[in-house]
Amino acid sequence: MGVKLTTMEIDELVINKPNEGFDNCDYCNGIEPQNTMLSFDNSDTIICDECNQEKFDEIQSELDEAIDDVFLVAHQEFNTKSGDITPEQNERLESLKTQLFDLILEQVKQNL
Ligand SMILES: [Zn+2]
Repeated sequence: MGVKLTTMEIDELVINKPNEGFDNCDYCNGIEPQNTMLSFDNSDTIICDECNQEKFDEIQSELDEAIDDVFLVAHQEFNTKSGDITPEQNERLESLKTQLFDLILEQVKQNL
């Protein structure tokens, strides 16, 4: 995680290291030393780790809920006796969730 600079730290850096630049998060306006923020994409948008993390968490949680909903519907349609899942199936599910999450992020990034 990047560390946000305070106004005082920025003033000190400007005086002591005048060649050092800063990046400004386009979402929270937090300021960090240049090139410490991950650019989310190939555009000019700069996003700090904290702001990215909130978005990642939100997307991940929406994805988990959506997948849970599909399982629930499938179980309701067939009046299953339980929702048991084997460790191997759970592993496959987690792997697919990760792949789907990566695909979603990749597809979002290319459209920014
Ligand atoms: Zn931010």
